[in-house]
Amino acid sequence: MRTLDTDVVIFGGGIAGLWTLNHLRHLGYEALLLETGRLGDGQTLRSQGIIHGGMKYALSGILNAEAEAIAGMPERWRRALRGEGEVDLRGVRVLSDHHYMWSQSGLASRITTFFGSKMLRGRIAQVEGQDRPLPLQNPAFKGSVYRLDDIVLDTHSLIETLAQRQKARIYHISRHNCHIEADDQHRTRAVFITTTGGGEALRIHPRAVVLAAGAGNRALLDDIGLTQQRMQLRPLHMVLMKHPQLPPLYAHCVGTSSKPRITITTHTCADGQPVWYLGGELAESGVERDSRVQIEVAQKELNELFPWMNFRGAQWTTLRVDRAEPQQEQLVKPDHAYASWAGNNIICWPTKLALAPNLAEQVSALLQTQHIEPLTPHWEEPLPLLFPEVAPPLWDRQGEL
Ligand SMILES: Cc1cc2nc3c(=O)[nH]c(=O)nc-3n(C[C@H](O)[C@H](O)[C@H](O)COP(=O)(O)OP(=O)(O)OC[C@H]3O[C@@H](n4cnc5c(N)ncnc54)[C@H](O)[C@@H]3O)c2cc1C
Repeated sequence: MRTLDTDVVIFGGGIAGLWTLNHLRHLGYEALLLETGRLGDGQTLRSQGIIHGGMKYALSGILNAEAEAIAGMPERWRRALRGEGEVDLRGVRVLSDHHYMWSQSGLASRITTFFGSKMLRGRIAQVEGQDRPLPLQNPAFKGSVYRLDDIVLDTHSLIETLAQRQKARIYHISRHNCHIEADDQHRTRAVFITTTGGGEALRIHPRAVVLAAGAGNRALLDDIGLTQQRMQLRPLHMVLMKHPQLPPLYAHCVGTSSKPRITITTHTCADGQPVWYLGGELAESGVERDSRVQIEVAQKELNELFPWMNFRGAQWTTLRVDRAEPQQEQLVKPDHAYASWAGNNIICWPTKLALAPNLAEQVSALLQTQHIEPLTPHWEEPLPLLFPEVAPPLWDRQGEL
């Protein structure tokens, strides 16, 4: 049996695990990542890819002047996209440099009050005429439009880029061939992996383990005996609409509630046709609706919001997905990712794609608090395990559209 010492083993190849792997390797840690499925195939490739600075929380009054962690995220990601950050995101496709927020005429004063506050100035600007996104330039549109500091990313190229940078440290496992050996103090002593085809078994001795498996953290926590740590799943029922004439739109529509009434992002299928991916309140309240009714509600919403557009001939489908988060009495504070230490394990949920850099920073801070510095000599010989596939973009999956 081959044995291997390493500083850190990360479980889960979504944005949390992949960003953290890149971050820790940059700091000099010997780290490897284990993935049971396809990279990105949890929440990350189903997300809307908005790297937001927390502006939408202004609607519910949660955003306060101290919410700097999330406020700093768009600039942090911009630096990484230019190759200036500790994680190199050159090669990731930016779908839009800005995200927008709009309201219909009757609600315009509400949005103005929110965004008029001193704290938000500089991070948001009202836009008119041709500076507005195409669907909101129509003369029949009477509301107000704000441009946010946020960017929107193509999540597939994001996952691919992060994975390629650390290809030699990312491995595919299955729930059946991987066993965690934990002691009574919930310290992970070893990760034992059997290989198929009579290959050599592997025993990995990590100094620390990062649980970044999204909804899969539940089973891992049980394996380690950390049954006190609770996780919550927040279901969403998203809608996808494909139509050859759809103009690009990346925007939240503000209604009367504290959450965006609808959030729209635009993506391109392999056949070149655009898709609008619809979330926000529509996806939250749509959990109880079946797919047919959810599509009817989405059609009604879009006809009401864009009476000057013609969606006839569009192809529609819906997608159910859970957001995995730590269980909290109240809502998770929107401005920080979640990372906590137990045994020698770090349990994490970024809670937002945008907060991945904040999560990775919390992980390295926890390691340092526990005096786990980069110590293990780097190993060169690859492990007898395969590199996991990167899952295809949502819009290209057979049968989904
Ligand atoms: C519909 C939707 C839209 C969203 N939109 C946005 C947005 O626009 N902006 C934003 O900031 N956030 C958004 N989010 C939130 C964001 O997507 C998530 O917070 C983030 O992607 C979570 O990443 P993760 O790596 O923790 O989990 P995941 O992406 O779920 O990845 C977990 C990975 O772990 C793997 N895994 C599971 N079990 C195991 C195991 N035992 N061992 C090894 N690997 C395992 C899975 O296969 C998966 O690859 C959205 C979420 C949803 C659902």
